[in-house]
Amino acid sequence: MLRNLKNYYRVKNLSEAVKVLKKGKGRIIPLGGATTISKLDSKNIEGLLELENLGLSYVKDDGKKIKIGSMTTISELLDSKVIEKFADGFLKKAALTVGSTLNRNMITVGGNIYQLYLWSSLPPAFLDLDAKIKVIGSKGRRTIKAEEFFSKLPRKILSYDEIITEVEIDKDKFKGVKSEFIKFSKTKTAYPVISIAVILKKLNKKIKELRIALGSLSPLPQRFEDIEKEYIGKELDERIAEEIAEKIVNKAKIVPDIRASIEYKKEVTKNILKDIILSI
Ligand SMILES: Cc1cc2nc3c(=O)[nH]c(=O)nc-3n(C[C@H](O)[C@H](O)[C@H](O)COP(=O)(O)OP(=O)(O)OC[C@H]3O[C@@H](n4cnc5c(N)ncnc54)[C@H](O)[C@@H]3O)c2cc1C
Repeated sequence: MLRNLKNYYRVKNLSEAVKVLKKGKGRIIPLGGATTISKLDSKNIEGLLELENLGLSYVKDDGKKIKIGSMTTISELLDSKVIEKFADGFLKKAALTVGSTLNRNMITVGGNIYQLYLWSSLPPAFLDLDAKIKVIGSKGRRTIKAEEFFSKLPRKILSYDEIITEVEIDKDKFKGVKSEFIKFSKTKTAYPVISIAVILKKLNKKIKELRIALGSLSPLPQRFEDIEKEYIGKELDERIAEEIAEKIVNKAKIVPDIRASIEYKKEVTKNILKDIILSI
């Protein structure tokens, strides 16, 4: 419950929105789909800033880049032909792992990447895609690479007067790739215990491009670029797939939780990862 909530702000454009946040000094926060905000218990938040009607709901393909507005919902991602065609449907596969349809209709891309939880689905996908997060604040606009954005909790990366406006992805790097995004959970709509995001391109059985990110195993999503690079040019067979999976789980940070032990998560992650690498 927001115990001291007094004001709701509706503005005409992003520069007015930034002014409202600046004036609030952290006591006014942007409102995405409200699936987290509605459950917050806080005495500090005094105002909510509406981001709807500021033109931030879109998925565009300009030929070179995919651009996703921060107020785009998970359902809108799932409905997008651009997303379906891009990188073997990678982002669609990631979006399909998010909660139930009712939640997908509300959860926004901006809210999903700002409020990191163990179960957040889009962050590992955006890490694999080398996405760029665009923000606007009182000091102007800036672009933050996903690697930096997810290197700590995003609230420590953004200032209180900054708004995520867009996520941008270069298309060229992902021509002809195969991809998979697997959520391992008790039921289809339950929070994931493990999330595994893989992008792979092969040429004559050899690995040309490999990207592996894990979610749900620790508070921050993890990518393994040094291990990925080691295998570029190698012929992919069962032994190599097993070796990659083994190295990844040995390097991954894994925290225990009430549903599964660290050992169990390691074993399951290794087996699913190996299967994905061999099957896509
Ligand atoms: C039952 C349930 C199941 C769920 N299952 C999953 C799941 O399987 N996978 C998954 O990924 N998520 C899941 N979620 C959603 C997840 O837990 C978060 O609630 C959601 O990602 C937050 O997005 P939102 O748009 O609702 O953000 P909000 O609740 O509106 O905001 C969250 C935070 O982000 C900030 N924020 C929002 N938009 C912006 C912006 N544009 N710029 C700067 N800051 C911004 C807000 O100020 C706030 O601090 C589930 C949620 C529920 C309720």
